Amino acid sequence: MARSMGSASVMSAAVMGLDVRPVSVEVSLITGTPIIQIVGLAQGAVREGRERIRAAAAQMGLHVPGLRITVNLAPADLPKTGAALDLPIMLGILCAKGDIAQDALRGTMAVGELGLDGSLRSVRGALPIALYAAADPNVDRLLLPSANLREASAAEGIELGASESLGRILVALKNGGRRLTPALLSPARGLPQDETPAAGEFDLSAVKGQPVAKRALEIAAAGGHNLLLSGCPGSGKTSLARCLPGLLPRLALPEAVDVTAIHSVAGLLSDGAGLKRTRPFRAPHHSISEAGLIGGGSRPRPGEASLAHHGVLFLDELPEFGRRTLEALRQPIEEGQVRIVRAAGSASFPAEFTLVAAMNPCPCGYGGVSGRCRCPDESVRRYRRRVSGPLLDRIDLLVDVPAVRWEDLAGKGPVEASAAVRRRVSRARALASRRQGNTNARIAPARLERVCAVDRGGHALLRKAVTCLDLTARGYHRALRVARTIADLDARARVSEGHIAEAIRFRGSI
Ligand SMILES: [Zn+2]
Repeated sequence: MARSMGSASVMSAAVMGLDVRPVSVEVSLITGTPIIQIVGLAQGAVREGRERIRAAAAQMGLHVPGLRITVNLAPADLPKTGAALDLPIMLGILCAKGDIAQDALRGTMAVGELGLDGSLRSVRGALPIALYAAADPNVDRLLLPSANLREASAAEGIELGASESLGRILVALKNGGRRLTPALLSPARGLPQDETPAAGEFDLSAVKGQPVAKRALEIAAAGGHNLLLSGCPGSGKTSLARCLPGLLPRLALPEAVDVTAIHSVAGLLSDGAGLKRTRPFRAPHHSISEAGLIGGGSRPRPGEASLAHHGVLFLDELPEFGRRTLEALRQPIEEGQVRIVRAAGSASFPAEFTLVAAMNPCPCGYGGVSGRCRCPDESVRRYRRRVSGPLLDRIDLLVDVPAVRWEDLAGKGPVEASAAVRRRVSRARALASRRQGNTNARIAPARLERVCAVDRGGHALLRKAVTCLDLTARGYHRALRVARTIADLDARARVSEGHIAEAIRFRGSI
């Protein structure tokens, strides 16, 4: 007859998308065949955890002879994957066995993967878990691997107990458990200030010439406008695009937390990494799948669109991307988020990014340069048609990027640095935010004319553009939004003729 030899429960958490759900790890020991049984919809990684737990226990001399160990992970309907439950399961077993007092684990949540030697390895989603723990009144301490400490430190109001091994955690728990916590790092420390260039960021001063494209980047940054750069290979489209993150206002702490959390659940933070300090710049290859770009997988993972949240998504050689892939991008562009529905549960990821697309003017790349292009008209039309349609509706600035001139390359005159542009951009964004609560790119067509008060000269020019330049309704809205941003950069309440004239020039040759 089986006899109960003890039981215990330990708090832990599972991550689904960016959402964190509490998991209760309940352990009971009964006499019988020695076996570890894990129930509660344990998927592959949890079953493998059984082996890791057995090995780590043996390594540390923590044998549990002659006892049947049942581990129940509740709630049962929550899919639990990943190895983050190793640590709480191990603590639960030791607590049930009487090696740790249940009191020592009161108010304590634990996550961590066990190595076979008893080491603690980093887990995905440590920052979202720490944020969850900080908000849960039942949790006042989070035990986690040292490799996740800097990342988790961005969550305020939770005590973090980090260790690189199970052994150190056990020693601390047996001694009252309040010795693990190192000095907390200030989460905002190291966020780049406005004037300092951030590590790895491209500065506008390094790009020679291209005054029109640089101006377009400033307008894009100020209004949150998506843009398309069209130009020959070697004209510097990629360098220009890379400058955009540094023209946007510096990441505020809550934004940095968002960006870091997304990279954390994607498994893209290296061990010991702290908060992401700079705006993301993601440049996926044109062979990327729909799931890679938007997100997906049976256990939903963020795609490039979400990894670019609060930053820039750069699609080079836009016509080479799959048509379906590009169409899937419409939803995140319109809603600023991605929703992935799976049998195992749904997840949503934020995806507010500025899109920068680039393309050659024709298949050979030299269209527009007299004498060098040999592409038949029909192939040029077909090439350009691939990017027309729904995605183009969401791009406000179409910019022709000419080949760089010799005078610009050789020129030694002063070139404006990103910091100066960023100051103007921040002022313009503040005006738009006070006026309508969002960026100019997000003004709905119905509100457009009210928000963009155009003076008489501006009206006359718009009328002329609609008739003479054959401006479509789409082109008209685009010009108005861009003109609003140009007026904001100029700190003017009304949009005037000069603003409209400049906006109309960004119609590209598509
Ligand atoms: Zn060509």
